[in-house]
Amino acid sequence: MSQILLALAGNQNSGKTTLFNALTGSNQHVGNFPGVTVEKKVGQLKAYKEASIVDLPGIYSLSPYTSEEIVTRDFILHEHPDVIVNIVDATNIERNLYLTMQLMELQVPMVIALNMMDEVINSGNHIDTEKLSKELSIPVVAISAAHKEGISDLVRTVKKVVKQNTAIEHLDFCKGEVHRALHAIAHIVEDHASDAKIPLRFAATKLVEGDVLMQEALHLHEDDLHIINDIVKSMEHALDTDREAALADMRYSYIEQICKDSVFKKQETYGQQRSEKIDRWLTHKYLGIPIFILIMLVIFYLTFVVFGGTMQTWMEEGIEIVTNQVSDWLDQAQVSSWLHALIIDGVFAGVGSVLSFLPIIVILFFFLSLLEDSGYMARVAFVMDKSLRKIGLSGKSFVPMLIGFGCSVPAIMSTRTLSSERDRKMTILLTPFMSCSAKLPIYGMITAAFFPNHTAWVLISIYSLGMVVAILSGLILKKTVFQGTSMPFVMELPSYRIPSLKNVFLHMWEKAKDFLHRAFTVIFVASILIWFLQSFDWQLHYLDDSATSILASFGNLLAKVFAPLGFGDWRAATALVSGISAKESVVSTLSVLSGGDTGLFIALQSMFTGLSAYAFLAFTLLYMPCIAALAATKRELGSWKEAIYTVMYQTACAYIVALLIYQIGSVFL
Ligand code: GDP
Ligand code: MG
Repeated sequence: MSQILLALAGNQNSGKTTLFNALTGSNQHVGNFPGVTVEKKVGQLKAYKEASIVDLPGIYSLSPYTSEEIVTRDFILHEHPDVIVNIVDATNIERNLYLTMQLMELQVPMVIALNMMDEVINSGNHIDTEKLSKELSIPVVAISAAHKEGISDLVRTVKKVVKQNTAIEHLDFCKGEVHRALHAIAHIVEDHASDAKIPLRFAATKLVEGDVLMQEALHLHEDDLHIINDIVKSMEHALDTDREAALADMRYSYIEQICKDSVFKKQETYGQQRSEKIDRWLTHKYLGIPIFILIMLVIFYLTFVVFGGTMQTWMEEGIEIVTNQVSDWLDQAQVSSWLHALIIDGVFAGVGSVLSFLPIIVILFFFLSLLEDSGYMARVAFVMDKSLRKIGLSGKSFVPMLIGFGCSVPAIMSTRTLSSERDRKMTILLTPFMSCSAKLPIYGMITAAFFPNHTAWVLISIYSLGMVVAILSGLILKKTVFQGTSMPFVMELPSYRIPSLKNVFLHMWEKAKDFLHRAFTVIFVASILIWFLQSFDWQLHYLDDSATSILASFGNLLAKVFAPLGFGDWRAATALVSGISAKESVVSTLSVLSGGDTGLFIALQSMFTGLSAYAFLAFTLLYMPCIAALAATKRELGSWKEAIYTVMYQTACAYIVALLIYQIGSVFL
């Protein structure tokens, strides 16, 4: 255990994770869009073994609007870090110092790491760090986290500050009315603050801002609250603004004053200029959304048709060669026929059918991480804000939804970055409608069997169907369960950056690892189980025809429920149930039940017509997410009751939509 604790705090996209990695040498995922860092991460410094550092979530200010801010504020107040390392994006220094002002009020020793100095210098601008440091009475170190410059300087400075342990004293950047109010309130709550172990200045500022959490933490009497309210009222009256604006004004005018002497900006940095030019198109009022749709279409085309499709064929051929080889060995070893069947028709058919989708998933993630790292995702959230508002959400909900196209589990977890409970619950409910990557193998299998010449269109229609159902649900829920309006949208648009290949590959590797892990654990076990249940009857006789098996007797019962949707076959029903363990399991189950790859197409054609196959796709898209996502839903919503309601709603939607597709389709086709 190291005895020294450092807290890394800063705005979103200021380079916190990059600096964290440079300091600790670990490979955290670095993102160029808000919402990646939700939980805090701890690591030990390479160059300062006694110290560990915590990567806190990105924040804008210390007001409790969002859960991230509460995490950061609570951490600093309760864990008592020895030093706060405040990372400041030098290309956007005024905005970033706003948080610095508030961190100073916590009166913990602090070091400012002035990041992105490479960009400042490249654009011919200049920041006088010494002067800045003197004005703020805080050490300021110029660094470039991405280029690993200034890191050892930073560590040296942190060591020095740890040794001196000088708390921040220079705090009086207030003037006039705000000054009077702050000091009057500080006087009233002095004892309460010291009892609650909250820095006095911080407490007073929060009370001026009207922060309810702070009022509770200080256990103030009614009388005190009345006096404080009167003080604030007269301040508002004198300044003719509201309480929050008054404080914001005070901070910004102080920042302006210190930057005047130390920040020399001839022009915007090259990166900002470039970003503005690109944004004229990508965040265009009318073209923004069409451009986004176009980009997604190109990505789908490249993934499914150009690269993924071809590589998947190679993968399938490879798996077939291995399967045949193993089958030959088993024959030579003269193993019993049931063991042969278990290994080849159970394990190899099940795991193999899922495994062949690895290339498609890795390639899709390659493109998604390019979008994320370049800074485009944040734009899409911005562009989508207005549309999402119509269904009662905000642009911020777009981020979890987009992550949902990869996997619902991190997507549901990332709703923690949303400001209001209402927005969170609604986003958690709607995110699983975004088709996750585990459902891809199902679409792949069905389209190959029924729509081989229209793969791209079927996929696009399925993905769109998910979004349409989410939009309709949003409209309904907004009118019924989740009334009210969404929080205002504040998200900084980071400059566009060329994504680093290392990050992109790291992201792909993580995804591949996750997928392989599932294939060899959940899918492996499910394949064996399904094989067993379909190979034996209730008297445990080994069967040739699975129609009388244990599984069939269950499946037949369930099939009645699905008959109105067009797929009342016991094998389809069973596959849907096993899909709850993991969505890929639908594929492995159907594959095992068809006796391996060769019989698969014939078996599928006996289960579905083109229309019912499409209804089946719609059902798998929309019905309850897998167990892991259900667990995440429960964790985030806090109760099983709400989680169960959520998945019941989703499954009901799936049933209704598939029913409509099949019944209406039957009339026309
Ligand atoms: P966080 O949100 O604060 O954790 O920020 P990240 O560490 O995810 O970084 C956001 C983006 O800024 C990434 O694209 C980084 O590659 C980039 N970045 C970080 N540090 C620097 C730097 O010193 N110079 C430049 N040019 N880019 C940087
Ligand atoms: Mg981060």
